[in-house]
Amino acid sequence: MLETLRKIVQEVNAAPDLESVLDVIVRRVQRAIRTDVCSIYLLDRQRERYVLMATQGLNQKSVGRVSLSVEEGVVGMVGQRAEPINLEDAAAHSAFTYLKGTGEKKFHAFLGVPIIHHRTLLGVLVVQQKLIRKFDESEEAFMVTMSAQLAGVIAHAEATGSILQISDHTKNEADRKFEGVSGCIGVAIGPAVVMTPLADLDGVPDRKVDDIKAEVATFKRALAQVRRDIKRVGRSLAKRLRSEERELFDVYIRMLDDNALGGEIIARIKAGSWAQGALKQVIGEHVQQFSMMDDPYLRERATDIKDLGRRMLTFLQESGPALSEIVFPENTILVADELTPAMLGEVPTEKLVGLISVHGSGNSHAAILARSMGIPTLMGVVDLPYTRVEGLNVILDGYSGRAFINPSDDLIECYQEVIREEDEVNAGLEGLKELPAETTDGYRMPLWVNTGLIADVARALDRGAEGIGLYRTEIPFMIRDFFPSEQDQMETYRKQLEAFAPRPVTMRTLDIGGDKPLSYFPIQEDNPFLGWRGIRVTLDHPEIFLVQIRAMLRAAEGLDNLRIMLPMVTSVREVDESKRLIAQAVEGLREEGHNINQPLIGVMIEVPAAVYQVRRFARRVDFISVGSNDLTQYLLAVDRNNPRVADLYVPYHPAVLKALQFIVLEAHKENVSVSICGEMAADPAGAILLMAMGYDVLSMNATNLPKVKFALRGISFERAKTLLNEIIVMGDADKIQAALSSRLKELGLGQLTRPAIPD
Ligand code: PEP
Ligand code: MG
Repeated sequence: MLETLRKIVQEVNAAPDLESVLDVIVRRVQRAIRTDVCSIYLLDRQRERYVLMATQGLNQKSVGRVSLSVEEGVVGMVGQRAEPINLEDAAAHSAFTYLKGTGEKKFHAFLGVPIIHHRTLLGVLVVQQKLIRKFDESEEAFMVTMSAQLAGVIAHAEATGSILQISDHTKNEADRKFEGVSGCIGVAIGPAVVMTPLADLDGVPDRKVDDIKAEVATFKRALAQVRRDIKRVGRSLAKRLRSEERELFDVYIRMLDDNALGGEIIARIKAGSWAQGALKQVIGEHVQQFSMMDDPYLRERATDIKDLGRRMLTFLQESGPALSEIVFPENTILVADELTPAMLGEVPTEKLVGLISVHGSGNSHAAILARSMGIPTLMGVVDLPYTRVEGLNVILDGYSGRAFINPSDDLIECYQEVIREEDEVNAGLEGLKELPAETTDGYRMPLWVNTGLIADVARALDRGAEGIGLYRTEIPFMIRDFFPSEQDQMETYRKQLEAFAPRPVTMRTLDIGGDKPLSYFPIQEDNPFLGWRGIRVTLDHPEIFLVQIRAMLRAAEGLDNLRIMLPMVTSVREVDESKRLIAQAVEGLREEGHNINQPLIGVMIEVPAAVYQVRRFARRVDFISVGSNDLTQYLLAVDRNNPRVADLYVPYHPAVLKALQFIVLEAHKENVSVSICGEMAADPAGAILLMAMGYDVLSMNATNLPKVKFALRGISFERAKTLLNEIIVMGDADKIQAALSSRLKELGLGQLTRPAIPD
């Protein structure tokens, strides 16, 4: 059964559109269960009806025509109860409704299972049989497994289908919504520009061309080059193939030679597609034909065709316009499968208003960069058929982590209002730079920044930051192809230290692993977040650690504003070992004649084990800093980068708030100062609570600093403490969030909460 399941899923995955996806499912499931009928009813949300979308065994003419309301029939019951219903004679059931024109009268046995994707009901998968009998347990289990596995494919195909209809203007579906996770808050509206890495056939976006003649000529030129290349490849492969294999290879050499493939592609170009898109479609179809073949050898040939396609694409891309020649429209929203910092650099900043990445996380390098530039960003929008959205209008909502493709005028107006409000708020905050973050009753809260790039420094100073609470040193490591030398590191660090001197600069030692890999130091692990990350890596590689510490110490020579911070610490042993290595570096440099002062040393509290050892740590170090991003992830056991569980990642969870308060109280018992450098400090409501808890420093991205300052200047310390006392006893994160928003509004700080945006 497992093998059948695997094959069906594979075949379904290869199907090009929703219709074919559904068709493959009903045909293959019917055959696998040896039943008379298999059908799929998809839920049409607008009409609140299940529509028969594919069938094997019922009257084909009824497909697309027959539907039943969500409360009707056994199908309706399956959807309402969200569980399988297995009946030996459906007609005898009180809920049964006969669907006219389908010819289902002669079928008795019925098994329906809901198709659910991310808690959303998509439809119902049904099998029926003439016999009066119950489907057995293994059949039921097969159907449930099938439906669970196919739900994602159906959702994706549905999304792609509706996007296609939008781009072809065959359907005016508006407000098509896709969910992701926020990489940077804010709202952007504009046309999508899809960017792909070179020679990635799957990633080629659909794009129309006006000058068809020129496009055909471009393609023919590329084809001539490809022919030569393919023949060369063919010759070298032919030597290693058996004669029957050689024949097959000759076939697709001929496919190029006699213009068959070329002809197909040219026909698509003539229909208006750009050459790369036409190539992708044609190759895709041929690949699919091969991958459907039963013979495993022939199936494997799909890979060869794909390879040919990639070669052609390389030539086409070489002869196509360079990225720098692409004219980016005003208000570009850049869309990519995996956004990279290099891509960010391709778009002129004055044209770029938003970023969408299908993969990646709110913590990925590109998202961190986007935050430091203040560009609204969505990450992990996994269901977005990104190659199909080129040129379509998009609303990017970085507050709720949603993108709307082809939004309606009403929705655009709604979001334009949000942008206007944001602009007003930001304009009002500009005058705050020179003012202190002081509450109405005179409590002074130091506001520091998180940095990673040298560009962050200027922004941070411009916004009135009083120190750096977290310099993510892994970022300069990530932009390179190999470990930077001590001298390189020293120069980079010096820029941060110098720009802020005499204000303090907290440099975190290399925090790689987890979701922050270095291309030149790959770490393969099943559970990277519970694996070799942060201090664990650097203590296992003292040579890397020592070089970095030496570079930091040398960079701070004569400035004396360096604080060194250790990430992901779980035990005192790690602190002691790190201190020993830092002392060794200090001593070594002094022996070499450098004038090195002992830096302040601190640890990050990022895991539950550290929370319960704060006092022990505090006795060993000069400061404590809470990494609330990781702490939230580890306390709640929710991957901070996984869009699937993003709604469970709640910084205002009562357990997180309790832990945050406990940390301050414990550290203060040892008279050690505590800062926080996770994203929570960047949220105005979070900042108020953290101040009330007693945090000595709040460190955040420069973009949010003025908002936080405004919030703290708009409340008294006493009022903040009352608010904390009210919140800390609450047991539900949603209620806490709602209470915070409403209190902020009462205080006249409503404009700092998440803007009122439609659901
Ligand atoms: C954190 O975990 O809160 C933190 C500040 O570090 P990073 O986000 O870089 O993991
Ligand atoms: Mg962290």
